[in-house]
Amino acid sequence: MKDCIFCKIINKEIPSYPVYEDNEVYAFLDITQTTKGHTLVIPKKHVQDIFEYEEGLAESLFSRVPKIARAMEKAFPEMQGLNIINNNKEIAYQSVFHTHIHLIPRYSKEDDFKLVFADNGKNYSTEEMNLIAEAIRKNEE
Ligand code: 5GP
Ligand code: ZN
Repeated sequence: MKDCIFCKIINKEIPSYPVYEDNEVYAFLDITQTTKGHTLVIPKKHVQDIFEYEEGLAESLFSRVPKIARAMEKAFPEMQGLNIINNNKEIAYQSVFHTHIHLIPRYSKEDDFKLVFADNGKNYSTEEMNLIAEAIRKNEE
């Protein structure tokens, strides 16, 4: 897609540091390197976000992740874990609207990656939890 920075990276109009490539998927180093090895995995097809994925695209994109994760683990023996993040829409911190999966290697609890999951479980009754789950189930296609 014209004016998409990641399409330009795929087409080599903008340089990048390649990590993995096949016919459908490209992975390259994120320019910010939140931690060493921070990588983005993207489909070669321009798809904006998770809401636009077809099953085949999800299959090809996500199926490459374990292979790259294991390669990182071998490349960086000091690596102790990995966060996998996929931001969708601006409110959820998506800033490039060509879908991508962040692989962020973790080296210590004090590194530069911060993620907070608030525990709001106490605010929901069992009935409300059932209704929430049912609302999602009813809309799966
Ligand atoms: P988002 O905020 O959409 O989840 O993530 C977009 C990511 O793309 C950011 O982490 C940002 O550093 C990265 N990024 C933006 N522009 C470029 C670029 O030109 N090259 C590379 N390698 N990464 C980029
Ligand atoms: Zn694109």
